[in-house]
Amino acid sequence: MVQVTKIKESPEKLKVGVLALQGAFIEHIHILQRFPQVSLAIPIRTADQLSSVDALIIPGGESTTIALVAERSGLLEPLREFVESKPTWGTCAGMILLANEATQTKQGGQKLLGGLDITVTRNKFGTQAPLHINHVTTKSGNDDVFPAVFIRAPIISRINSLDVEVLARLEHTIGDTDASAIVAVRQGHLFATAFHPELTNDDRIHQYFVSLALESLRKRCRIIQQQI
Ligand code: GLN
Repeated sequence: MVQVTKIKESPEKLKVGVLALQGAFIEHIHILQRFPQVSLAIPIRTADQLSSVDALIIPGGESTTIALVAERSGLLEPLREFVESKPTWGTCAGMILLANEATQTKQGGQKLLGGLDITVTRNKFGTQAPLHINHVTTKSGNDDVFPAVFIRAPIISRINSLDVEVLARLEHTIGDTDASAIVAVRQGHLFATAFHPELTNDDRIHQYFVSLALESLRKRCRIIQQQI
């Protein structure tokens, strides 16, 4: 008996979800709507909505609250499954949730989704308000500089795997956090930034994620086709 599996066409367009349990999600949706490669950008509050998208953004906010609401609404496990194989970008609180380990967590610890082999330290720099603007140097061939907004931001305090690629570092010292501290990383289909690109007028980081997501979906399609 041969099982026939329908081969999904390699995607040209993306359906992107933005986790909308708490935090700065609407700003991401507005930026995504500008990209011709994004056919749909929707808020995600249920497992059904999550299963309808190709890629996900976990926004900034409060990582403990996001995890708590996700757990109460039965989304924690579906989210863990999603991030195992589908392109996901975590900004700030989202980066904490994607980390395999976090320090300076609330007493009793906090739930993480995991996936990124990094250790993050919560609430390292940037006040709640006003926003702290610092430039970060991004690794895009010509060492571009990006205006970054930090709000009680986590820092990547340790990288625990050679598979993690450093994509951006702080340009200037903030408080006791040295210039060159790591503020953006990628590991395969997972991407994380300690800052909030959705709060600036510069959409290069969103463009980067859209390209990353399309590239990793195409790669996944090729692997599935080879297995059949
Ligand atoms: N301090 C927040 C946390 O620990 C993150 C802040 C943010 O997302 N801007 O979850």
